[in-house]
Amino acid sequence: MEREKLTYDELLSEANELRYKLEEANDTIEAIRTGQVDALIVQGEEGHQLYTLKTADQTYRMFIEKMNEGAVTINHEGLILYSNSRFAEMVNIPLEKVIGLAFESFIVEQSRDKFNKVIEAAWDNECKEEIELLSKNRNPVSCLLSCNTLELDEGLALSLILTDLTTQKDAERELKVRNEQLAEAQSATEKLNDELEDTVRDRTVDLLISREHFKLLANNIPQMTWTHLPDGKVNFYNQRWYDYTGLVLEEEGYNREQIIHPEDYPLTMEKFTASLKTGGVFEVENRYLRADGVYRWHLNRAVPLRDETGKIQFWVGTATDIEEQKQQMEKKDEFIGIASHELKTPLTSLKGYLQLISHKKDELPGGVKQYIDKAIMSLNKLQRLVNDLLDVSKIQAGRLEYGLQPVNLTEAVITWTENARHVYPNYNFECNVADGLLINGNDERLEQVLMNLISNAVKYSPANNHVIITASKLNNDVRVAVTDHGIGLSPEQRERIFERFYRVEDKKYMSSGLGMGLYISKEIIANHHGGIGVYSELGKGSTFYFDLPLAG
Ligand code: ADP
Repeated sequence: MEREKLTYDELLSEANELRYKLEEANDTIEAIRTGQVDALIVQGEEGHQLYTLKTADQTYRMFIEKMNEGAVTINHEGLILYSNSRFAEMVNIPLEKVIGLAFESFIVEQSRDKFNKVIEAAWDNECKEEIELLSKNRNPVSCLLSCNTLELDEGLALSLILTDLTTQKDAERELKVRNEQLAEAQSATEKLNDELEDTVRDRTVDLLISREHFKLLANNIPQMTWTHLPDGKVNFYNQRWYDYTGLVLEEEGYNREQIIHPEDYPLTMEKFTASLKTGGVFEVENRYLRADGVYRWHLNRAVPLRDETGKIQFWVGTATDIEEQKQQMEKKDEFIGIASHELKTPLTSLKGYLQLISHKKDELPGGVKQYIDKAIMSLNKLQRLVNDLLDVSKIQAGRLEYGLQPVNLTEAVITWTENARHVYPNYNFECNVADGLLINGNDERLEQVLMNLISNAVKYSPANNHVIITASKLNNDVRVAVTDHGIGLSPEQRERIFERFYRVEDKKYMSSGLGMGLYISKEIIANHHGGIGVYSELGKGSTFYFDLPLAG
């Protein structure tokens, strides 16, 4: 419609009228909001219309005004009849400007169709739907739209409640992420659990098998076997143990004294306690009482089983029946004893005759004289061997007896070294002896010990003829030592050389001997209340020494 031209005055008065109407409208809205009026006149297509908020009393309106949700009332044309401040805030338009606008204009383009359908349906039935509202910064905000019809005097209106779902959506999103993380962690845990279960199952089977293996093995070996804890308490015996001792399972906590021979018990317990303390191998020979009342010799050995930190978990012990070996050894000792005794007498007379002949040197043809000297040398060797054999059997029988008298070891060692120089003229003996070394001893036996050490030093240093002999004070003892620069000994060999008949099995350096010298020496020194030992390094040489208490 074309507007007729208006004069300036007419335009001014129209502008004033419009301003007045605007002020009036603002007042009205304020009045409605604050509950002062219950009705509203809206300019529609059919002219002015009056809307009354029939049911809305002041309390109700105040409540609507204060609520956190956006509350809007629209008419059939979709125009906003009423809005609370929260809705105006949501769409960022002053409250007074919201009234009269089409609600649809606040809906995101893409969800308008959906919105229109909801509104259409809402006139018949109350309904709810999620829609996208154009927010303050024109970004879509998810809202839950709840629609209810509202009966006003001038006809039906729709009440729309808009709940901002942003926080909820954020929370949902967060929850979803967390849930996903949880699910991931859960599946990882489940996988780990499965793996763990598999491992435990495998280990259990392994353990069962190894336990069965152990039992099978333990019950079928000819030895008696046991395991004991670090405190010495036994926690397993094999079947052979029960068969041998005649003890029954219930008597596991048996007293060791019950079955170990009283003579062997103190040494057994001493070694057992020492190995528990040090963690070193337990090894001892003793006699165990069999169920029929007979004692049999056994060799006991127990080794500790340690965990990866080196802590002892338990000990595994075995007792091997060595009764037969012991009896054979006894028979052998007996034979050696008798044989060496029987040999001694004819050897002595043989030597006597040879010495008689050698005294009549002048009457002998030239060549024979030499042979007689060689025969005497061989005979001396043979006598030493027989004497050693006799000593060994005496030691075994506990009959190596001799008296002790005061001995000046300073003089004795010098004399014995001098003797050695005659016996081994090709060797260079260095002798360092301290003054005034007095002891109580048997000089013949001590000479036997030193000569044995010297002859070994000579025998086992084929490439170096320098031997050092020393005698010095060491605390309350005298230490006599013989040092060579020969083949030396490994730690394992060092451990065993004082055993009876032990010889190092090295074909390269094999020389005559029966492995008796050091064994006899050890016994002799023990009878003097002293000790014997060796420092040695393979390929470098050895120092054999013995310590004897100073007289005083
Ligand atoms: P043997 O009669 O065999 O020499 P011993 O009892 O005197 O008997 O010595 C035992 C073993 O110890 C010897 O066979 C030898 O292997 C070793 N042995 C002794 N002394 C020495 C030494 N000085 N150097 C190297 N090995 C030695």
